Amino acid sequence: MLKVDNIDVYYGNIQALKSVSLEVNQGEIVTLIGANGAGKSTLLKTISGLLKPRQGNIVYLDQFIAGKQAQAIVKQGISHVPEGRRVFANMTVEENLELGAFLRRDKDGMRKDFEKVYDLFPRLLERRKQLAGTLSGGEQQMLAMGRALMARPKLLLLDEPSMGLAPLLVKTIFRIIQEINEAGTTILLVEQNAHMALSVANRAYVLETGRVVLSGTAAELNASDEVKMAYLGGH
Ligand code: ATP
Repeated sequence: MLKVDNIDVYYGNIQALKSVSLEVNQGEIVTLIGANGAGKSTLLKTISGLLKPRQGNIVYLDQFIAGKQAQAIVKQGISHVPEGRRVFANMTVEENLELGAFLRRDKDGMRKDFEKVYDLFPRLLERRKQLAGTLSGGEQQMLAMGRALMARPKLLLLDEPSMGLAPLLVKTIFRIIQEINEAGTTILLVEQNAHMALSVANRAYVLETGRVVLSGTAAELNASDEVKMAYLGGH
């Protein structure tokens, strides 16, 4: 479904991604793990069109998308939930969700998608008239994910959905990630919580200082000594 082929990405003179390649197959949850600053967010931003690779290709459903405008990429079915949620604080929950569907015209389909999002996140239904800025961190994460789903993505890019959330809420978010995937959306998940990420993923890539240093099935990486030492607290 998605093939990232040897991309180099720079911020000015600083190279953030070095010959990175990765594949995501339809139906999978693929996770990208790595320390702070490894380049995980940079990779998601490059896939969603916020950054352009200097070298290399990105192919999504048989089309070259590297360097295309972000809006065109959303239209092709890739939605990105950025790190730190970024909801519109002065708009209500419902207005934020509407914005997620701004490229769509089909009113009936949108109504159904509102229902789907509210089924997935009952909390958002309870708070639909509330300003997004007054929601808790976990609720804002749910809203950011719900907003992305309103664009009906085929591929969902999630950047650190568990960041700053209490353990119980982390579990809830991961359960919902699995539900979204089971309903047919392919997911590329960036996480620092390698333990949780590997528990839901089919496959994983490890990124270190801009390079892919390891990849395999989630079970293989869970069993790898290197991953255990560096990302799973040595257990
Ligand atoms: P984090 O979890 O902290 O976001 P990450 O793995 O997602 O880490 P990136 O945010 O992709 O890492 O950053 C990769 C590298 O690029 C880092 O060295 C970072 O300092 C650098 N970088 C990121 N954004 C910028 C920017 N806007 N300008 C210059 N350098 C940047």
